[in-house]
Amino acid sequence: MKYFILFGPPGAGKGTQAGEMADKYNLCHISTGDLLRNEIAAGSPLGLKAKELIEAGNFVPDEVVEGMIESQFNSVKGVDGFLLDGFPRTLAQAEVLDKMLQKRGEAVTLVISLMIPDEMIMQRIRHRAEIEGRADDASPEIILNRIRTYHEKTEPLVKYYKAAGNYIEIDGSGSIEEVRDRIFAIL
Ligand code: ADP
Repeated sequence: MKYFILFGPPGAGKGTQAGEMADKYNLCHISTGDLLRNEIAAGSPLGLKAKELIEAGNFVPDEVVEGMIESQFNSVKGVDGFLLDGFPRTLAQAEVLDKMLQKRGEAVTLVISLMIPDEMIMQRIRHRAEIEGRADDASPEIILNRIRTYHEKTEPLVKYYKAAGNYIEIDGSGSIEEVRDRIFAIL
């Protein structure tokens, strides 16, 4: 099995690129953000707990997303691998993922990091807000909080995966097709 991580700041285009990658390489696309939004829409106990945190631009607790990932690993069949989008987002999550995979005799295959500057994050999220109407895209303060949290908690993972030797960075600016072709060239 292949285990790909699509990494990058909010608004880098992870979700957009993940769909095509998953189709082309027969991967199960797991977006923790989508899974959490589904829980919120369903009004589940987990969704109720997650709603406030997400809408303020904060993370949900590590154990919550780790549990979601493990249950996907255990239940999804018939794919050649997994494409993780939005997970891991903290060092603790990355360590738990490594342990989860070790138990299965597997390891992270490749981390594909989509990089864009902070100004572009803001522009793209504002554009997305008009189309998707996500509550965490609604105000500049919330977006700034997410960008800050990304730099503080998620960016340290770059060093972690660089040290592991399975990290590759891709320029996430340009059109959807341009970025897609850069990714496909590597895969
Ligand atoms: P974006 O890529 O635009 O930040 P996502 O859809 O990936 O959006 O995530 C939306 C929100 O869901 C995050 O801001 C966070 O509150 C929550 N979330 C998603 N993945 C995780 C995670 N791995 N750990 C903690 N919270 C998460």
